[in-house]
Amino acid sequence: MKCPNCDTKIKSSLTAKCPNCGFKFDEAYYQEQSSELDTDDNFHTSSIDPEDYPSSGLVFSSFLFPLIGLIAIFFRSKGKPYTRKIYIIATLVGTIAWAALLFLIFNPLG
Ligand SMILES: [Zn+2]
Repeated sequence: MKCPNCDTKIKSSLTAKCPNCGFKFDEAYYQEQSSELDTDDNFHTSSIDPEDYPSSGLVFSSFLFPLIGLIAIFFRSKGKPYTRKIYIIATLVGTIAWAALLFLIFNPLG
């Protein structure tokens, strides 16, 4: 953060006084700082993350083996909402395809 009085950069957010000019930070100033950080975080999560792209191999594996899809959803898509969505769709489609296939092979009604 920066001192609002002299623009000196202050490393510790726990400092109550500017080491350069002695400006005292009050509680309202801290709240302003933290609310600005919150806005930054929201902006970050709503912006497109270039890393947020699913691995095509894992999507294919999720479709063939829904269990791999579940693993991908839980362990390979942390903080990647788009990636997670793709894995979930691939896993669901794979599960339905497997269910349909098993139903045709072991037709419980036949
Ligand atoms: Zn200062």
